[in-house]
Amino acid sequence: MKKVFQDAVEFHRHLCLDIAVGYRAAEILVREMGDELKNMKEVVALVGNQTCALDAIQEITGCTFGKRNLILTDVGKPVYILQNTKTGNSVRAYCHYWDTFDHSEFRALRKAVKKNEATAEQKATLERLTKETIDKILAAPESELFQVSRPVLSAPKISGKYPAAPCEACGEHTDEALLSEGEDKRLCKECLALKAA
Ligand SMILES: [Zn+2]
Ligand SMILES: [Zn+2]
Repeated sequence: MKKVFQDAVEFHRHLCLDIAVGYRAAEILVREMGDELKNMKEVVALVGNQTCALDAIQEITGCTFGKRNLILTDVGKPVYILQNTKTGNSVRAYCHYWDTFDHSEFRALRKAVKKNEATAEQKATLERLTKETIDKILAAPESELFQVSRPVLSAPKISGKYPAAPCEACGEHTDEALLSEGEDKRLCKECLALKAA
C-alpha cells in the first residue's frame, strides 16, 4: 500500500471503496494543478456529494472543512474539483466508475451483515469482494475511473466571519443572514425546527 493512500485510510479510520476513489481523485487533482497549488491560501476544493471519498480529498489536498477551503457544492454527483481562486484555473474529476458499477451483491451482503444475519461465508465474501474492488480501483487506469477536465471557474463565496445577532428565542448568537423573520420574532434554525415540531 502506498504511503499516501495509507495516510488517507488512517485519517478515515477504515478501508472502503470510496476512500480508494477519493485517493485516486485527489492524486489526479494535485498532479494536474501543479504550480497552481504554490500558494495554498488561494486554493479551494469543491466536492459534489458527501461520501467517504472526502476524507481522502481532505488528507491529500490539504483542503479541509475546518480551513473552510473544502466546499460542499451538493450537486449530488461524485465530482471533485480543485480550484485556484486567483486564476480560476481548475481541475475537475467526475467519477464515472460508479455509473456502471454493480452494487447489488455488495448491498445484499452489507444488509445481511447489518441485520446480523450474515453467515460466516457471506462475511468472507463481502471481505473478499471489498478487497478485490479496492485493488481494482487502485490499479485501474485513470480514464476507467474519471473524466478529467480543466475548466476555468469564478471564485466561490468562502464562508467565515459573519455578522451575528441573538436569536430571540434561545438568545444564542447566530449568523444574521440565517435568522428567519418569523411573525414577530427572529429565530435561529434550531428554534424554528422546535417550533415546527
Ligand atoms: Zn469509508
Ligand atoms: Zn434560537
